[in-house]
Amino acid sequence: MKILVTGGCGFIGSNFIQYLLTDKEIGEEVMILNIDKMTYAGKGRNIEHMNLSQNKNYEFIEGDITNMELVNYIIAKNKPDIIFNFAAESHVDRSIENSNAFEQSNFLGACNIFKAALNNKIKKIIQISTDEVYGSINQGNFSEESFLNPSSPYSSSKAAAEIMALSYFKTHNLPVIITRSANNYGPYQFPEKILPLFITNLIEGKKVPLMWSEENPGLNVRDWLNVKDNCRAIWFISKNGENGNIYNIPGENEKTNYEITKIILRYLGFGEEMIEKVPHRKAHDFRYSILGHKLKKLGFTYIHKNLEEEIEKVIEWYKNNPDWWRPLKI
Ligand code: NAD
Repeated sequence: MKILVTGGCGFIGSNFIQYLLTDKEIGEEVMILNIDKMTYAGKGRNIEHMNLSQNKNYEFIEGDITNMELVNYIIAKNKPDIIFNFAAESHVDRSIENSNAFEQSNFLGACNIFKAALNNKIKKIIQISTDEVYGSINQGNFSEESFLNPSSPYSSSKAAAEIMALSYFKTHNLPVIITRSANNYGPYQFPEKILPLFITNLIEGKKVPLMWSEENPGLNVRDWLNVKDNCRAIWFISKNGENGNIYNIPGENEKTNYEITKIILRYLGFGEEMIEKVPHRKAHDFRYSILGHKLKKLGFTYIHKNLEEEIEKVIEWYKNNPDWWRPLKI
C-alpha cells in the first residue's frame, strides 16, 4: 500500500510514520512518502532515530504543500492509495501573533491536497483536524454534529480546511474523512507546547509559565490523548470510517492545566514555587470536551488509558533525550 503523509517530520506525523513502519497492528506492507516543509517544528530531527535513509519502504521529499504545482506533481507521479494530511502550523500562540502561515499551510495547503487528490482520483484522504474547531464548552461535550465555533486563528484555519474538504465530498464525491482529536502527548513534541515546555523547563531548573488570573487560576481544561492511540485511531478510521464523515478522537482524560502542572512538578520533585503565573492568552478557550461514540461504534479501543502513568513515561523520555530537545529550545 502506498501512503502519502504530509507533515511527517512533526510531532504526530513522525509518531504516525513510526507506527506504520513498526507496529504489528498494521498487518500489511506499506510504502511511505513523506512531504514536509521542515519548518521550525519539523527540521527532520523527529525521524532521525528511525534510520530511514536505508529503508526501502520510505521516501522523503522536502516540500511545501502550499505549492500546488509540486503537490499535484508528487501525487500524479506516485498515485498513493491514501493521503494523510498532517502538515500544519500547530501552535495557537504563534497564530495569535501572526496568522499568515496558518492561513497558507492549514487552509490553502489543505485545499491543494484536496484538488490534487481529486485530479488524480485518489481513493482515500484523511484530513487531520482538532477538537479546537468546536471552541470552548463549560459543561457537557461536543459531538460531531455540534456547531463549529473556533476561537483562535489556528483553530479557524483548521475549521476552514474541514469545510472545504466536506464541500469537495458533497460536490465532487472526494473520498475524504476528517479526524478531530484531543490534545496529544508523547515523545518528540516540540518544547513550546505545555507538556514538553514544562517538563524541559523543570529539567533545566527553570520555572513553568502557567496561564493564570484571579478568576481563573490555571483552571482551563484539556482532554489528553496519547499520541500512539491517536495514530492507532487515525489508521483505524482510514480502514473503517465512512467517506464524508467526521470522527472525534477524545483522550477521555480531562484535566485542568493546574492539575497537569502538579503531576509534572510532583514527579520531578518540585513544589508550586516553580510555577510562574502568566496572563491568559487572548480568547483562551476554557474547556475542550468531545464525545467518541462514533469511533467506539466502529470498534476502536484505547491502549494507553492511565494518564498519570503515561505522563510519567513521557517525562522519563524527555529526561533521557536532552540531545533531541535542547537545541530546539528558544
Ligand atoms: P507539528 O507542528 O509538530 O508538526 C507539523 C509538521 O507540518 C511539521 O513537521 C512542519 O514542518 C510541517 N509543515 C508545516 N507547514 C507545512 C507546509 N506548508 N508544507 C509541508 N509541511 C508543513 O504539529 P503536530 O502537533 O504534529 O500536529 C499535526 C497535525 O495534527 C496538525 O494538522 C494539527 O492541527 C493536528 N492536531 C494536533 C494536535 C496536538 O495535540 N498536537 C491535536 C489535534 C490535532
